[in-house]
Amino acid sequence: MNIIVFAENQDGAFKKSSFEAVSYAAQIAAAHGGQVTAVSIGTVAAEKLAELGNYGADAILNYTDAVFNQFTGEAYSKALSHAAKNKGADLIIISNTYSGKMVAPRVAAKLNAGMVSGVISMPETSNGFKVKRMVFSGKSFAEVAINTSIKVLSITPNSFSIVENPKSPSVETMDAGLSTSDVKTQTIEVARATGKIPLTEAELVVSGGRGMKGPENWHLIETLADTLGAATACSKPVSDIHWRPHSEHVGQTGITIKPNLYIAIGISGAIQHLAGVSSSKVIVAINKDPEAPFFKAADYGIVGDAFEVLPKIIEAAKAFKSAS
Ligand SMILES: Cc1cc2nc3c(=O)[nH]c(=O)nc-3n(C[C@H](O)[C@H](O)[C@H](O)COP(=O)(O)OP(=O)(O)OC[C@H]3O[C@@H](n4cnc5c(N)ncnc54)[C@H](O)[C@@H]3O)c2cc1C
Repeated sequence: MNIIVFAENQDGAFKKSSFEAVSYAAQIAAAHGGQVTAVSIGTVAAEKLAELGNYGADAILNYTDAVFNQFTGEAYSKALSHAAKNKGADLIIISNTYSGKMVAPRVAAKLNAGMVSGVISMPETSNGFKVKRMVFSGKSFAEVAINTSIKVLSITPNSFSIVENPKSPSVETMDAGLSTSDVKTQTIEVARATGKIPLTEAELVVSGGRGMKGPENWHLIETLADTLGAATACSKPVSDIHWRPHSEHVGQTGITIKPNLYIAIGISGAIQHLAGVSSSKVIVAINKDPEAPFFKAADYGIVGDAFEVLPKIIEAAKAFKSAS
């Protein structure tokens, strides 16, 4: 199976989700044979490109034309489908990030390929080609078969491990034959989320709800997050009333995350909130109401007032960090 992987970068550094995608592809190639080709789009330094070899990329195609200086789904999907045709790819792997969501369906349409988004399993190939994805806001799984000869999978970030598998990939500079005037859309402005750690990539997330009472109390959430090296998130009403930016809103209508640890503080645990966080590996809920629905979804719960509990947790986390 010849596999193309979109190796997405931000400011010239590959995202963690890109290494997950390369590792995922390398495991499929190990099981079924074939080459893994990582596609880098935009300017990335040679030593950064070589990092893709650490996780099993056999080859790297590097698209560096000026048209790729800014992300557009249109141009990036053209580069990826160009790469797929160049390598005779059977399978295209894209991480289901914001950019991946814009690119994957376009690539599938250009290649006449069947596509599954939000994949959470390795392909099952004993009888056709099937993968699992979550449905009904994470309450159930669907197993989806792809029947086309070329297949596109967008895999859920944080669902697959990064696996070291050192290779010495060849690097080829590519020309997709695209100029800026060929692209109908243009990125006018990129507004970055203010958090230090991108929420979708974070392994630890500290999240606050209306129980935090107001933005003036968010220093408690931020201090705990900083101490743990976590990203910050919030419930929908918190971003609706502008206590926090919308980029932090998780849930059915916000971002879906899958960290190793999700700490929910003063959040009731409404089904719409849980839809975005219930796949977290470990959930800790802190709520003063013992009947709060979050306790049913949580692995650990603390019944208590956030304003009494949080300073103690912060103190313990700081002591733990300085001792380790
Ligand atoms: C179509 C639709 C889509 C939606 N999408 C989303 C979504 O994507 N994400 C989302 O989050 N919501 C979403 N909602 C809203 C959702 O239904 C809930 O209203 C929302 O999640 C509640 O937010 P909250 O838990 O912060 O606030 P509340 O429901 O007000 O809960 C506050 C919690 O804090 C606790 N608390 C209060 N004081 C303290 C204290 N001092 N210490 C500890 N605990 C305390 C309370 O016991 C309570 O459990 C959606 C709703 C609809 C209808």
